[in-house]
This record gives sequence, structure tokens and C-alpha cells, in this order.
Amino acid sequence: MRQTIPLTVLRSSANPSVCSPCGGKCCQTMPGCVFPSDLDSQLRPEVVADKVLALLESGRYALDWWEGNPFSDHACSGRAYFLRPAIRGSEGRWTDDSWGGTCTFHSAQGCALEEPQRPLECRALVPSPHGACYKPEGWEAGGRRLAAQAWWEYQETLQMFSELYWETVEVRNQYEGHL
Ligand code: SF4
Ligand code: SF4
Repeated sequence: MRQTIPLTVLRSSANPSVCSPCGGKCCQTMPGCVFPSDLDSQLRPEVVADKVLALLESGRYALDWWEGNPFSDHACSGRAYFLRPAIRGSEGRWTDDSWGGTCTFHSAQGCALEEPQRPLECRALVPSPHGACYKPEGWEAGGRRLAAQAWWEYQETLQMFSELYWETVEVRNQYEGHL
């Protein structure tokens, strides 16, 4: 099932006159989630996979996951991966399910990414001068869950990248252990 997000959120909600004085509190709480449509508007699996790999290899992005089935309200085992920017200090980890921290792209000058390159969840957030920033209609389930739903069709690929990372870590550990 392909997740549909209302088209209204595809426009950027950034408002420098509100966000500059704020200093990016949202970005210091948790990075926003990337959606497959951020990587390829046509959602071509091979294009999305290539871009995910390149982003993971950059060290600035990580695979996070939703515990269980993101389409079900019943607790169940398993995980549903999605992509997001790395949390500062955890760069280089391809998998990271920790919650809370400053986005690797945040700085005193704002987000290091140009607006079109920012994750959909970041672009969806509507700034409010009173600190009550919000996401528009359609985001009630939460960014992480919606992202996990949107990445549902790509789970095999994301799982493969996760395994690739851990195999690499294992090989590196073995190699360093013999030095
Ligand atoms: S969206 Fe809200 S929390 Fe984020 S930088 Fe703008 S005003 Fe601050
Ligand atoms: S990508 Fe940019 S806008 Fe999104 S959380 Fe990171 S610093 Fe903030």
C-alpha cells in the first residue's frame, strides 16, 4: 500500500522570520523523516535504492525504524525501516533507532540543506511565532509512522543495507582485533 500525503505539505512551510529567532528548536529535538518521494518523485525502486545507499555512505543519514507493522495498531514483532538525517555525534552509523538529539545538518545559521533537499517531514512543519508549530492535516499518525508506511515497499532494500552495514562492522572489528 503506497502512503499518500496531502499535496499541501509538498510546499515548504519554512518561515525565516519565525524560525531564525527560534534557532531551530525542532531540529535540536530530532531530525525530520525522509520519504521515498524526497529521493525520486516517480518512486522508482532502483533510483530510490541508489540514493539511499549514497546518503548512508555520506555518513549523514541513518536507517531508523518503527517497531512492528506501521499499518497496524496491534503490537507485533518486526521493524519497518525509514530514512532520516543522522543525530549529531552518531554520524557514520547506518542504523540508529535512538530518539532525541540535534540533527547533523543543524547549525547556528539554520539548516545546512537547501529547502528542496530537506526531508518531507521538515518541510511539512508549519512554524508558529508562539511556539505552537504544527503539522497540517494528514500527519496525525506522526512522522515516524507515516515514514515507515511510505517506505513499506522498500523494506527489503533497507533491510539489505542494514545487513550490509553490520557485516562491514563485523569485518572491521575482526580485522582490527587482529592488528
Ligand atoms: S518550525 Fe518551529 S520549532 Fe522549528 S525552527 Fe521554526 S519556529 Fe522553531
Ligand atoms: S534536515 Fe534541516 S530542517 Fe530537517 S531537522 Fe535537520 S536541520 Fe532541521
